Amino acid sequence: MAETIHEKAQRFITEGRITIRYEGSTLIDADVHGDHDRYAVVVEIGDEARCTCPASGDCSHILAVLAVSLARRTGLPTAVSLGKVGV
Ligand SMILES: [Zn+2]
Repeated sequence: MAETIHEKAQRFITEGRITIRYEGSTLIDADVHGDHDRYAVVVEIGDEARCTCPASGDCSHILAVLAVSLARRTGLPTAVSLGKVGV
């Protein structure tokens, strides 16, 4: 069975593939080392999120970055923060 994007995001987090380069109150700029390539993720908080991967719409990379950022800010475990990232 194929991984869901949540499962994939959790795996990227567990494997330490997320690098947050900048995290501010309105913007998160991060790199995700995906299965095939390295992608740049930019999240404008409360607005839109962009990833350089070929997937359209929300992808596991964006989810993983949001979950890591939320976990940092709230102190929640990433498995919990991932569930709170509504995508
Ligand atoms: Zn992506």
